Amino acid sequence: MGYYEFNIQVPDESKDAIINMAYESGSLGVVETQNYLLIYFPDHRGIKKLIDDFASFKTILKDSGLLHDFSFGYVYLSERDWNESWKKKFQPIDVGEDLSIIPPWEISRFGRINLLIDPGMAFGTGHHITTKTCLELIERLTREGLKERFLDVGTGTGILAIGAAKLGFREVVGVDIDPLAIDAAKRNVNLNGLTNMTILEGTISVAKGAYDLIAANLMSEILIAIAPEISSRLKNKGIVLLSGMIIGQEDEVIAAMEKEGLMFTERYYDDIRWVSLVLTR
Ligand code: SAH
Repeated sequence: MGYYEFNIQVPDESKDAIINMAYESGSLGVVETQNYLLIYFPDHRGIKKLIDDFASFKTILKDSGLLHDFSFGYVYLSERDWNESWKKKFQPIDVGEDLSIIPPWEISRFGRINLLIDPGMAFGTGHHITTKTCLELIERLTREGLKERFLDVGTGTGILAIGAAKLGFREVVGVDIDPLAIDAAKRNVNLNGLTNMTILEGTISVAKGAYDLIAANLMSEILIAIAPEISSRLKNKGIVLLSGMIIGQEDEVIAAMEKEGLMFTERYYDDIRWVSLVLTR
């Protein structure tokens, strides 16, 4: 198993759009420098598909009226090369008021709640804006008193679930359909020494019981499809935190959730592309 590192020379005004499109194509991480972007993909995405994606990005940028003339190259990285390359670039970041996301080979930050995250092959390093927004909202909601049971649908590296556990949730469950994410999430739970967490392979249906806070950072089609299951797992007065929708898709998601008896309360626009929602019952 290996990775592809794409090096992209991209005009400044199109950078954000490219980063977002890269994540949508399954990128595990993006590193921004002054002059270029490095974008990482697991090799199971297939190089032909990735190259096709980049070529179609140009058309999308053009159609959006953005500068679309970028060039790109790529290299294949073996697992070992990846570790070396990504390690150098995956820097610690602070999120919200108290949280820091730290790769395990870096020193923890004094006076902050450190989430140790080794991304492995899974999505969720905290560098993506939707992950950051979810963590900020989880932090705020725990401060407001939510602390019992937390469910993370599509846990990836486990980052949101680990955040919730470290912020004080008594019992935390994370589910994901991708076995690579499950491996990464379990490894990260251990790295953080957490014992009140369960990571399960599957869709939301494998999560039993009722929850005070349910987070799901997923595409809108999936959020709409699982609306009944989210609702049936939410405690009375519980809160649902949804992210991963592209601006313009949120009303459909809200409608699907309202049909299941949930009430929309807050909406956040993250940069040019993403929306996060808070709902309750
Ligand atoms: N929660 C992390 C990762 C989000 S990426 C974060 O906020 O950064 C979305 C994750 O959802 C991926 O790991 C993907 O494998 C998983 N996923 C996609 N569809 C799913 C479904 N129907 N049920 C559960 N997990 C799903």
